Amino acid sequence: MTIDAARSADPPERTPAHDVRLRLEHERDSRLSQLDAVEEAADQASADLLAVQTDSARRVLAEIDLALARLENGTYGICEGCGSAIPAERLEILPYASRCVGCQQRSA
Ligand SMILES: [Zn+2]
Repeated sequence: MTIDAARSADPPERTPAHDVRLRLEHERDSRLSQLDAVEEAADQASADLLAVQTDSARRVLAEIDLALARLENGTYGICEGCGSAIPAERLEILPYASRCVGCQQRSA
């Protein structure tokens, strides 16, 4: 039994804010390039499809900006609906989630 073995048994830490920011910025970049791609494809795509794609990309961009703001003021990862912590697994899938699954379903 060594000190190292005991140390490795420590519980995993929460995702550091720095990592979260990088993920959010990556998500934002990919939405921005998605918007560029959609605009480039405008000639082939129908106007309706184009509107749906740009709408959803812009909505996600707005969510990402809000998540970055929450990261700034220290409320990131806290559900806007019930005020409890959003589970890390949910933030892993959806780093810009502003509500826990329960509140999201109630508001839908
Ligand atoms: Zn909630």
